[in-house]
Amino acid sequence: MVGTPKLIGLAALLFFLAGRSGFAKNSPLAPPPDWSWLAHCAHSMPREEFARLLQNHYARNDAAAGSVEVGEASVRIRTEGDAWQEVPFATGGEHQGTGPARFWRKAAELGPAPLGKPLQGVKIVLDPGHLGGEWAAMEERFFQLGKTRPVAEGDLTLAVAKRLKPMLEKLGAQAVLLRKSDRPVTRQRAKTLEPAAAAELTGAYTAERLRRQSELFFYRISEIRARAQLVNELLKPDVVVCLHMNAEEWGEPEHPVLQPRNHLHAIVNGCYGRRELESDDIRAEMLAHLFGRIADEAVPLSECVVETLAEATGLPPYTYFSNNAFRAGEGPYLYSRNLLANRLYRVPVVFLEPYVMNSSPVWRRVQMGDYSGEKVVDGVPQKSLVVEYATGVAEGLARYFRRERPSGK
Ligand SMILES: [Zn+2]
Repeated sequence: MVGTPKLIGLAALLFFLAGRSGFAKNSPLAPPPDWSWLAHCAHSMPREEFARLLQNHYARNDAAAGSVEVGEASVRIRTEGDAWQEVPFATGGEHQGTGPARFWRKAAELGPAPLGKPLQGVKIVLDPGHLGGEWAAMEERFFQLGKTRPVAEGDLTLAVAKRLKPMLEKLGAQAVLLRKSDRPVTRQRAKTLEPAAAAELTGAYTAERLRRQSELFFYRISEIRARAQLVNELLKPDVVVCLHMNAEEWGEPEHPVLQPRNHLHAIVNGCYGRRELESDDIRAEMLAHLFGRIADEAVPLSECVVETLAEATGLPPYTYFSNNAFRAGEGPYLYSRNLLANRLYRVPVVFLEPYVMNSSPVWRRVQMGDYSGEKVVDGVPQKSLVVEYATGVAEGLARYFRRERPSGK
């Protein structure tokens, strides 16, 4: 049912237009950014390192032009609206500044691990992507062929997280799940977010459009912001593993189509776009990641995990043809891309996208459910999809920490 179109007032429109030209501007539901950490970045990074990270990883193709100006001795950063702050570079090998405060530790900073426990003392947060359950249809990460077992990303990622937690604990890690059911972490709901959603919509819109915008604010933005608050302020882990599954276009929700393509990739935070960097909060997050040297750990860690997962699953790499992502590692599986979760979590994030949920082989395996041991699927004995995913991630993390932690000898 289509509702009556609403028109936003002229005053609101003028305010909106003014917001695009110089006044402070934030992305939806973002509080005004806190830049206080920037003061600790003076003399914390040499010019060469800053410029390399900015140009090669975070803001390729001059995406930060107009808001980050790299000079000889310092960088000028547009903080809010038309306000700028200058941050001097470190010179002569002396790093006087500390950079942004960080709670996470690099693998190389941990002590040696006991034999068989490469993850001893590592704090790992598992983030089962999406919500599933009663929210699966709203999230549009759900399909069902006739009366067969439904495929919901949020339910599958939760099942993987529950299998993965004891595997990581066996390897010595402290592992925590960001959610244990389909209950949202955020206290907001689509209804309570309606005013914010209405403020975001411009021009005339229908009641249906407002409903969809409010739902999107709830399950995507508010939910991820609430999870980020848990990660950054309460749990303070060394690593976050975001568990997702991919999907290809499945057409009409009532008549989803299976297709043969199946693949894998992982995403590390980076590749910010020019328009994204016009938002004060997004610019602040990018610079906090850059000065925090998060990619130095996130790239090799993610690459090790995704390559181990590739061995465990036999999946080929996914290839992006859009300009919102580029290859970040040595191999073909890791991409740099700016997502809300890997941007808001101020810690190395391993963001995984294995399996195409609506590919024929994955659909058939989902129909078999989760099980222990092996069952014959498509003529080959296979672990359950959930166990295969969890095992690949656990082995990848173990492999990275085994390689990077100092040896006890
Ligand atoms: Zn997902």
